[in-house]
Amino acid sequence: MIRHHPEKEMLLEYAAGTLPWAQSLAVKAHLEMCPACQQQHQQLNGIGGTLLDNSDPQPVAGTAFDQLMQRIDRADQDSSPEQDLPNNDARQPRSNNPSTDPALASLPRVVGKLVAKNGPLKWRRVSPALKMTRLKTGQDKYEVAFHRICRGGRTAEHDHRGQEIIMVLHGAFSDADGFYRPGDFLVRNPGEVHRPIATEDQECLCLSVVEAPVSVTGVLGWLVNPFLGFRPG
Ligand SMILES: [Zn+2]
Repeated sequence: MIRHHPEKEMLLEYAAGTLPWAQSLAVKAHLEMCPACQQQHQQLNGIGGTLLDNSDPQPVAGTAFDQLMQRIDRADQDSSPEQDLPNNDARQPRSNNPSTDPALASLPRVVGKLVAKNGPLKWRRVSPALKMTRLKTGQDKYEVAFHRICRGGRTAEHDHRGQEIIMVLHGAFSDADGFYRPGDFLVRNPGEVHRPIATEDQECLCLSVVEAPVSVTGVLGWLVNPFLGFRPG
């Protein structure tokens, strides 16, 4: 049973189409797995529809997320050049062979589509317990990635430079704050430290969406030379 859900504010922003697309990807994946949030989303959509009915008609542009999904759908249907989409090479395999990778066997549809567009996933070993692969999305504001922890694996304690959304897709893990199963949706804010540990019975696959640390060099530069701004004229 899913116990960890997106905050209501995030569902509202998702329903209003104002949530950045990478977070929308995680929310949509959660909605596919969570009947409770699906119901809430439908109610929010109903409220939005009523508000629109009672207001002056406005030209409606699709949300950034809708546009992204439309591009993915179009690229699936034809082979026209799509400069801003990753991996449009029609020769690339469309599948990551879920039959041989049980962790990828039952992904939410929205995640499955993105994986199919990526072609074969290249997993990078981060530590003995943890592997990760970045999913190409054609933008650099958010890093969208899979993390997989081996059975019983303990990841290193780490914190986050940007806000991170984690969604469990397969298996389960725990940290100091709780226990998380498929469909569970967590938000970790910058500065929060955690150390996920997978259960012993199977490996754990998570989707993670992180705000890209765009100002790393700036911050590092400032740390290296913190008095730069205070030098006497
Ligand atoms: Zn939910």
